[in-house]
Amino acid sequence: MKYLFLLLSIILSSLSSSAATPNQVQIAVKLEPRTKQFWCRYTLTLPADAAETSVQLNLNKAFTITGLESHGAVRKQIAPRFYATAGDTVQAIELTYRPGKQRRRVVLTYQGTMPPKFATPEVMELSGHSNWLPSRPLREYELIDYVLQVQAPETYRIISSRPPIRHSQGRSTFRGLTSAIEPTVVAAEHVYEATTGAPTPIKVSKAAAPLLHPDSLMLSEAERVVAFYNRSIGQQDPIPRFAILLTGADRDAFALLDNAAVITYPDFDVRKRIDQLVLAHEISHKWWAYGSFNDYNDWLNEAFATYSSLLYLRATADTAGYRQELAKRVASAAGAPAIIGFDKTAHSYPTYRRVVYDKGTVILAALHDRLGDASFLAILATTAARKTSSTSEFLLIVEQAAGLETRQWLEKLLST
Ligand SMILES: [Zn+2]
Repeated sequence: MKYLFLLLSIILSSLSSSAATPNQVQIAVKLEPRTKQFWCRYTLTLPADAAETSVQLNLNKAFTITGLESHGAVRKQIAPRFYATAGDTVQAIELTYRPGKQRRRVVLTYQGTMPPKFATPEVMELSGHSNWLPSRPLREYELIDYVLQVQAPETYRIISSRPPIRHSQGRSTFRGLTSAIEPTVVAAEHVYEATTGAPTPIKVSKAAAPLLHPDSLMLSEAERVVAFYNRSIGQQDPIPRFAILLTGADRDAFALLDNAAVITYPDFDVRKRIDQLVLAHEISHKWWAYGSFNDYNDWLNEAFATYSSLLYLRATADTAGYRQELAKRVASAAGAPAIIGFDKTAHSYPTYRRVVYDKGTVILAALHDRLGDASFLAILATTAARKTSSTSEFLLIVEQAAGLETRQWLEKLLST
C-alpha cells in the first residue's frame, strides 16, 4: 500500500526546465508546533521580461488568506475553483495588470493548521506533500530561486533539505533553487543526525526519535547507492551531497530535487529488499525528474528510477535478486498498452503502474541487453546530464550513441 505513494514522488521532483530566469520567492513562516498552526508571508517576484498581464496562484483551500498585495494591480480576485490536476477545489488568486514590461511582485499572507498527517506534538512537516505553498496553475514544478525564513519556538530544531545559511535561536534561513512546491521545513524538539564524510557527504536527520540500527544501515546503504550512481548514471552530473529526512509520520517516501529525500516510514529497513529498492529509486530521481508528470513521458521518471534501482541491486552482486525483480516487471508488463501515446487519464492506476513503471523498466532492460554495459550506461549518463524531458529527446540520444537501427527498434518497443 505504501508504495502507491511513490507515484507522488514525482510531484516533488519533477521540474519545468523552460524558465530562463527563475522567479524569486521569499517565504517567511512562523510555526507553532504545539497547536500545529503556521503563519506565512509568501512573496513572488516575476521578472520584467516575463511581462505578465495576469498572475494566478492556487492556494490550499484549508488555509485562511489574510492579505494580498501587489503594486500596480488593477484587479485582485480570490475565488474557490475546482483544479482538475489536484482533483480538488483551491483558492484561485488572480491579479490583473495593465500591459507593460514591469516586474510583478505579489505578497500573499495566509495562515493555517496542518492536519495530523503532517503534524504531531513532536514533529511539524511543511513539505511538497503537505501542499503548504501557493503555486501557479500547472507550474507547480517551475524553478524558483527561494529564500526561506523560519521562526519556531526556541526549543525546536528546524531542518530542511540543506543546511541553513543563517541560524540563531528560534530562527533559521535557507536559500536554494528548486521547484515551486518543494521548499521544505521540518521542526522538532529533538533531531538526531548522522553523517558520512568524503567523497559525498550524506546526512540522515531523524525527527523526534533517536537513530536506531536500521537508520545507520540506511545511511551506509545511501552512501553505497550514491557512490554507485555517481560512477554510472550520474558520472556527468554527480550528486554533490545528499540529505535524508526521517519524520516518523508513517505516510510515504518521496524525492526532492534538491539532493534530498523524505522517508516517513518508521519501519523502513534496507535489509528488506523492497525498502532497499525504494531508497535507490528515490535517490535516482535526482536525475529522473524532468519528464512531464501529466503524460506518457512520465516513464522517463518512473521507469528510469525503477531500472536504476535494479541496476544498483545487480551492482551489489545480487544478480539473483535483480533477475527476480525484473521477472516481476516482465510478468506485470505482459499485454500492457504501449508507452508512447499512453493516456493516464483514460486508465486505472494499476494500468498506469504496469505501463509507466513496469513496461518501461522491461524496455530499458532490453536496451541494456542489446547494447551491453558500457554503451547503455553512457546513454543513461547523457540522458541524465541533459535533464531529458521527452521521449523523442531520449530516442535521439540513443540514435546518436547506438545508431538508427537501435533507435527504430526501441521506438517500436515503445509504440507496441
Ligand atoms: Zn518514483
